[in-house]
Amino acid sequence: MPTTRARKANLTAGSWSANGGAIETGDLTDATNHPFGANVFSPTVQQDRLSKATYKRLQSTLASGEALDPSLADEIATAMKEWALERGATHYTHMFQPLTGLTAEKHDSFFEPARDGSGAALAGFSGKELIQGEPDASSFPTGGIRATFEARGYTAWDPTSPAFILENPNGALLCIPTAFASWTGEALDAKIPLLRSMDALSRSAVRALRLLGDSDSQRVFTTVGPEQEYFLIDEQYYYERPDLVTTGRTLFGAQPPKGHELDDHYFGSIPERVLAYMMETERELVKLGVPVKTRHNEVAPGQYELAPVFENSNVGSDHQQLTMQVMQNVARRYGLVCLLHEKPFAGVNGSGKHNNWSMGTDGGTNLMDPGDTPAENTSFLFFCAAVIQAVNKHQGLLRASVANIGQDHRLGANEAPPAIISIFLGAELDKAFESIVSGEGDGKTEGATMALGTPVLPPLPMHGGDRNRTSPFAFTGNKFEFRALGSSMSLAFTNTVLNTIVAEAIDELADQLEAKASGGEDVGAAVSAVVKDSYTANRRIIFGGDNYDEEWHAEAERRGLKNLRTTPDALPEVLSEEAVAAFEHYKVLSRRELESRFEVWVEQYTTLANIEAETTASIAKTMLLPAAVRYLAEAELAKVGAIDERVRPIVDDLVGGITGLESANQYPDGVEGLELAKYARDNQLTAMSAVREVADRLEKEVADDLWPLPKYSEILFVR
Ligand code: ADP
Ligand code: MG
Repeated sequence: MPTTRARKANLTAGSWSANGGAIETGDLTDATNHPFGANVFSPTVQQDRLSKATYKRLQSTLASGEALDPSLADEIATAMKEWALERGATHYTHMFQPLTGLTAEKHDSFFEPARDGSGAALAGFSGKELIQGEPDASSFPTGGIRATFEARGYTAWDPTSPAFILENPNGALLCIPTAFASWTGEALDAKIPLLRSMDALSRSAVRALRLLGDSDSQRVFTTVGPEQEYFLIDEQYYYERPDLVTTGRTLFGAQPPKGHELDDHYFGSIPERVLAYMMETERELVKLGVPVKTRHNEVAPGQYELAPVFENSNVGSDHQQLTMQVMQNVARRYGLVCLLHEKPFAGVNGSGKHNNWSMGTDGGTNLMDPGDTPAENTSFLFFCAAVIQAVNKHQGLLRASVANIGQDHRLGANEAPPAIISIFLGAELDKAFESIVSGEGDGKTEGATMALGTPVLPPLPMHGGDRNRTSPFAFTGNKFEFRALGSSMSLAFTNTVLNTIVAEAIDELADQLEAKASGGEDVGAAVSAVVKDSYTANRRIIFGGDNYDEEWHAEAERRGLKNLRTTPDALPEVLSEEAVAAFEHYKVLSRRELESRFEVWVEQYTTLANIEAETTASIAKTMLLPAAVRYLAEAELAKVGAIDERVRPIVDDLVGGITGLESANQYPDGVEGLELAKYARDNQLTAMSAVREVADRLEKEVADDLWPLPKYSEILFVR
């Protein structure tokens, strides 16, 4: 299927930056201009520093997605080391993503004392050290995969994600993106399954492309473009709020008189300090090869968004981890704190991360782009139907992939998006699918009629079309936008899920296509029939209306769609029959690896709930209650009985709430795992809310100078 389009998917094989050739080839040492990717061991740098033969072999292994020949490692390691030393690096680290959802690093020095006892230091870094590390990583969560006696984990270099240098006022660090596995080869990180899922999707998609008449494409890459929402607050308030410091969100705080219902912040002008922060963050990211593109104010006061240009899923996911890190670090230089929590402030919009997802061929064709030739339309409809089928079948798994404790305040609450997964296609695409189902293809679309000899294919929307901001999974012109990811979350698992379930659906549809084609049916008609069957069977997942509407929730229930409101409801979906079957079939995650993840995530939920509950109790007891008591004492001194009358009952309620919370904080015997998570949800979190409700009432009564926590009105509106 040759493409005539100028609009390319903008990704290259094993892309160092799926921004393609956008890495500046100019003077990479010019630190004042901060050219794109200046601190990246990019293909340009490699070409300069590696022998022709090694460079070529490295590039071709990356393009084909195969494993790297270890014999190349020494030369690459030496080149990487010299490049890093010239840039002031003294240490290197294998950066990996354990199941904590964070990024982990252990720094090793390049320098070792010379063996001759001269006191000199030699810089060494071998191919072996490049390809494999053996961190003493026994305290990372493994969900039972690794017994302590076999506690070693291994890190393995991922050559498809570029190494880079992180600068620090006191030096520099060479960072080598790596995978992290147990000695038995089981994945202990977020990267390995993502890479496996990209392979799986590529195989399925290439197979389907052959059936659709594309004989050129060798590999299909999935792409991701995340839109990151975040809050910025003044550092001083952060330090004055133990809840923010300990849990990343405010556990107390009455609604301010002026709230985010005033839409003046959204897309408004950006305050100078904030803009300075954004520009420095972007400058840092650009040096690291992260193609940042947009910035703007978000809906809530103090809330902003940053989005890069999309890249292949693996690089995009690594870059997203780096982005979150840089965002938080740079904020401190401006006396700001960057909050990535999904719901830092009750009653104020939370933060999400829109996961724009697509797939494209190594030739540069975006398979989620409707296209302007009949052949492209056919292929688009086929792949689009596969996505719909996958999302419908695995809606629970997708929901689970975005579950964490912070998300429970967002999904399912009255804000975007709901916990019910549904797809928005847009009016035009809706119509296209509906007309295939009804058999009333658009006869007027000459191209389709001519090229395919069948009037079955309706005209497709060329661009964007309409938008539905409330949909959790929306087609936005040339990609799907999964909007349910949380702002603090890694992209890796969600995209692992997307890639795997779409790979499966593509194969299911390709099987049907193959059967029809071998029966001699024309490709256009066969695709149309396959799409028709699939769309009819999965149509219940399509919804174009308002996702916040209570009526939709009732309708979704009638349609049999899942509504998994909380993390303990959603996580078991990871181990559903269909989920395990898909992951195992595509060798993305074994049952054991899935079980380990489930265990880690359940435990994480319980631990965080417990930390929140204990922090709530402690703040209420040692900060808020004493403030209220002092206020009562002053009222008594001043003989203002009215104050006593108003405040004393609230104080009594607070004491009662604290007692309730303290007893909820005592775990019942013999309860563990998912049951304990549910216990925490139903007892600790509810007791916490009760305490908060009373304390927030108190906040509005007690003298402002006695109230020990900065209020929402201060935190949210100070620039
Ligand atoms: P919005 O959704 O706010 O209208 P854009 O349309 O600019 O924003 O795109 C949002 C994100 O989608 C950006 O990160 C962009 O790079 C990404 N994106 C665009 N095309 C693709 C694609 N083919 N695959 C993945 N992400 C994409
Ligand atoms: Mg968007």
